Amino acid sequence: MRFVGSWATQGSLSFVHLEPEVLETFHEFVQGVRDLEAGGILLGCVRGPHLQIIEATTPSPRDRRSRFSFERDDFHHHAIAMRRWQESDGIIRYIGEWHTHPEDYPSPSSIDLREWRALAASRIDGRPLLALIVGRKGLHLEFMSGSGKRVRLCEGSTSLE
Ligand SMILES: [Zn+2]
Repeated sequence: MRFVGSWATQGSLSFVHLEPEVLETFHEFVQGVRDLEAGGILLGCVRGPHLQIIEATTPSPRDRRSRFSFERDDFHHHAIAMRRWQESDGIIRYIGEWHTHPEDYPSPSSIDLREWRALAASRIDGRPLLALIVGRKGLHLEFMSGSGKRVRLCEGSTSLE
């Protein structure tokens, strides 16, 4: 079972491409029967309305993890984001959040939606947050804006070129 790396909003107004390394990270943390939820932040490049995700940060010992919840320790993940930003002269930036769910085809909880919206509202660049959940057989991707507007992404063959 492989996750799909190409996603698009309806009408292909916006493409999201997940690099193979990112999919590898997701596969590594797919939740088995006893695994804890995992998560981190998504880093990548903005290309007009399109996004290229090149890194998913992985859990640190300071994150609070359980079977059904994941609370990120901001310091660890944002230190990585800041380093990538500096190393790339501002090309690679914070794009959004990911975490796992112990379900085949995941859907966000009300807590997820509330957190995503708060994170989107706190973004300085005003862009919507890319929110991603890793299930056991599929991914869930959506954009969440600070006003609470949600845009779902679907699997699709896309190209950024
Ligand atoms: Zn969740």
